[in-house]
Amino acid sequence: MADGGRDYYEVLGVARGATQDEIKKAYRKLARKYHPDAHPDDPRAEERFKEVSTAYEVLSNPEKRKQYDAGPSAFFGRQGPSGAGAYGFDPRAFRDGQAFTGDFADLFSGLFGGRFSGGGPRRRQAQKGRDLSVGVTISFEDSLKGVTTRISVPKAVECAACGGSGAAPGTSPVVCPECGGRGVTAQNQGFFALSQPCLACAGQGTVIQTPCADCGGEGVQQAVKKFTVPIPAGVKDGTKIRLKGKGEPGQKGGPPGDLYVVVRVEASALYERRGSDLLVEVPVSFVEAALGASIAIPTPDGRVALKVPAGVRDATLLRVKGKGVPGLGGKSRGDLLARIRVVTPSSLTNEERELYSRLREMQRGTPRDGLPGWVA
Ligand SMILES: [Zn+2]
Ligand SMILES: [Zn+2]
Repeated sequence: MADGGRDYYEVLGVARGATQDEIKKAYRKLARKYHPDAHPDDPRAEERFKEVSTAYEVLSNPEKRKQYDAGPSAFFGRQGPSGAGAYGFDPRAFRDGQAFTGDFADLFSGLFGGRFSGGGPRRRQAQKGRDLSVGVTISFEDSLKGVTTRISVPKAVECAACGGSGAAPGTSPVVCPECGGRGVTAQNQGFFALSQPCLACAGQGTVIQTPCADCGGEGVQQAVKKFTVPIPAGVKDGTKIRLKGKGEPGQKGGPPGDLYVVVRVEASALYERRGSDLLVEVPVSFVEAALGASIAIPTPDGRVALKVPAGVRDATLLRVKGKGVPGLGGKSRGDLLARIRVVTPSSLTNEERELYSRLREMQRGTPRDGLPGWVA
């Protein structure tokens, strides 16, 4: 804008009401025409390129465009259009590929192909295969004991016939005649050479002359693979088990991805898991609670005798050491928490009713559960 502030619409050669698409198109055309790489010794081209880029930066941004449309004073403030800075544009930014964000990056990725990616042609980059994820559901009991499951995973595998090359057996991919294996082509537009990914080989640098019949030249096939997955004792709901290298095959010699097995553990009718402890409810009768008892309770290792002390209260937790969830990854095993549930009998035999009645008669006049002055 050092030349006195030309109108941004004029700079791009578009109408005031131009759509974003029209603005983008106009900019692409002009950016190609004036790109400094095409005119290394012409400072005027660089100046023009800056001007075009500045105009685009403003008009492609709806907010900035609105401000600009409102009038130069609203837009430039007191600094004036010739002030460098706010909307200045350094074409050198184009060369290191760092300065691009959003719309600019999007725009130039198509325009210049891989030139601004900083590395060599893309085809040389080995790519790790995709990771896959598959779910498996096991019972709560199996989660405590550990279990080995078989899973079926639909996935892409390297084509057996061509070994993944995509070329018919006995042949191999040849250097792309269009780009000479570079993966990019240069089109001369005046002095300006425009690099684009090679269309003939899709940037790969090689082409397949006789595609493999089995995979149609893709190098991969869909298959259902079966895996044996050992699930360790103590596994928690939601645990992911990684099978290294069992994901999709890599590309261009890259390593395969991994397969993640996500373990779902069904709820148990018996146990509730609390970290590495297991909670189990132990129903106890009035009589057992009053007199104390030895009750056979379930544990992951089979039944054990639980000593219930005389006078135990409802909801008391009794800890059975080392009978919880098996330790995983070097952790010590959790405990079993036995929660006492004093059960009221809902039906009585005649004899039981008689005994309970006698008990009631005996207890008349004793304080009700320790509350002074309130007797039965
Ligand atoms: Zn094949
Ligand atoms: Zn090519």
